[in-house]
Amino acid sequence: MADQPGTQAPQTGIYWCSVCKLPVKFKAGETLPTCKNLCGRGKWEFVRAEK
Ligand SMILES: [Zn+2]
Repeated sequence: MADQPGTQAPQTGIYWCSVCKLPVKFKAGETLPTCKNLCGRGKWEFVRAEK
């Protein structure tokens, strides 16, 4: 499952960009940014939960 930039993270944990696989931690409810590598089509794929 992948989440679009601009939507809220469904849970706290590690996500990575579907294009460049850059891993980033987001908290639940946090608005997902665009990938800092400017991958235009990049979505955030949930990798694993983390506190
Ligand atoms: Zn990216």
